Amino acid sequence: MSGPLAAGAPKPECDVAIVGGGIMGLALAYHLALRGVTDVVVLERGYLASGASGRNGGGIRMQWSTETNIRLMRESVELCKRFAQELGVNVWLRQGGYLFLASSDGERARMEQNVALQNRFGVPTRMLLPDEARQIVPDLAPGSFVAACFNPRDGILFPWPFLYGYANQAAARGVEIHTACEVRTIEPGPRGFRLTTSKGALTAQRVVDAAGAWSPAVARLVGVSLPNRPHRHEILATQPLKPFLGPMVSVLRSGLYFSQSMRGEIVTGITVEDGLSERVNMGSRLVFLTTLAREITRVMPRLAQVRVLRQWAGPYDVTPDGNPIVGEAPGVPGFYLACGFVGHGFMMAPVVSKYLGEWLAGGAEPEFLQRWRLARFAEGDLHREDMIIG
Ligand SMILES: Cc1cc2nc3c(=O)[nH]c(=O)nc-3n(C[C@H](O)[C@H](O)[C@H](O)COP(=O)(O)OP(=O)(O)OC[C@H]3O[C@@H](n4cnc5c(N)ncnc54)[C@H](O)[C@@H]3O)c2cc1C
Repeated sequence: MSGPLAAGAPKPECDVAIVGGGIMGLALAYHLALRGVTDVVVLERGYLASGASGRNGGGIRMQWSTETNIRLMRESVELCKRFAQELGVNVWLRQGGYLFLASSDGERARMEQNVALQNRFGVPTRMLLPDEARQIVPDLAPGSFVAACFNPRDGILFPWPFLYGYANQAAARGVEIHTACEVRTIEPGPRGFRLTTSKGALTAQRVVDAAGAWSPAVARLVGVSLPNRPHRHEILATQPLKPFLGPMVSVLRSGLYFSQSMRGEIVTGITVEDGLSERVNMGSRLVFLTTLAREITRVMPRLAQVRVLRQWAGPYDVTPDGNPIVGEAPGVPGFYLACGFVGHGFMMAPVVSKYLGEWLAGGAEPEFLQRWRLARFAEGDLHREDMIIG
């Protein structure tokens, strides 16, 4: 195959135009095409994976604090396991588990509550004493945490082949994918939406806003106001080390997380406050390096010797309750939202795109989308997710 990208201008008419060629837009395009909706055009302003989808840590986990997210992510991990076979690309999936560390009794109590909920929905997370956690990761500093929880079925994968797997399979089924194609205006009209782009105009019966941290600007083009805002999130990769780290480790209090890739690098990030603004900022900062270095060497002193190879940043697409915004925009029939995935959109894409694709292909609206509707913010009907890291 020559690659997933279409040449020239987008075709003048289509059924579904998807704005954004990140994991969400491409996975949705694939699931639509799989169900026979092939008259689909993906419009991406930059290159594929230029947004958060090409900048993330590749973590996938079932450990969440709400029933919806636990159920969905349990299914998503299963879909990830079948990805290589079904989409024909090796995504370097490694199920080494996620080990969360609690630093106080309050955090331990919160953890116990979440673990009980996860167990109730079939996720085999278990609480561990510090010594038990150190049997899984012997290099953790004694005294650096008071309790831990571990689910051996969580894991990591390599984001780029994952995204290209969806892109290739969508294109093979007839989806047009355009890069360097910015959507500039969207006008609803009696015969569909009229879009103008940097590569020409087109008409679409339906439009999906899958523009991640840029989705509020895209929604504004049709007069819809969204509450999600970008938050810079920084991350780095070190020189490769001999394999020594099984799970992804995360410290709840600081938002530190680190895992070892299949190539041996330590991939790690941490929360550094940056404020929410209208603008996406992907610049790297020294304060991130120093904050991370202090925290990671407190938890695992042997990493003090390791060299950093590369540091970068991407946008978290943050909503007020930590949950996504997915569904038809109120007042604009045919305009759909698939955004607000905070710091976990990569792992959610397989399951969310599957159900959203089924619905947009004529199936029933999945019931969990009720909880992710835009109107919940105005109604105050929020179910906060608190297992967000980084
Ligand atoms: C550092 C970091 C680490 C992360 N770690 C994880 C992790 O371990 N696990 C996990 O599940 N998630 C993680 N995430 C979050 C995850 O990457 C995102 O939730 C996910 O990639 C969002 O995908 P998306 O398709 O919604 O958005 P994006 O990938 O940002 O795609 C949106 C696209 O829309 C395009 N666009 C914007 N405006 C326009 C326009 N007007 N016209 C055309 N195109 C436009 C952009 O160029 C962009 O490519 C992390 C994120 C970051 C930044």
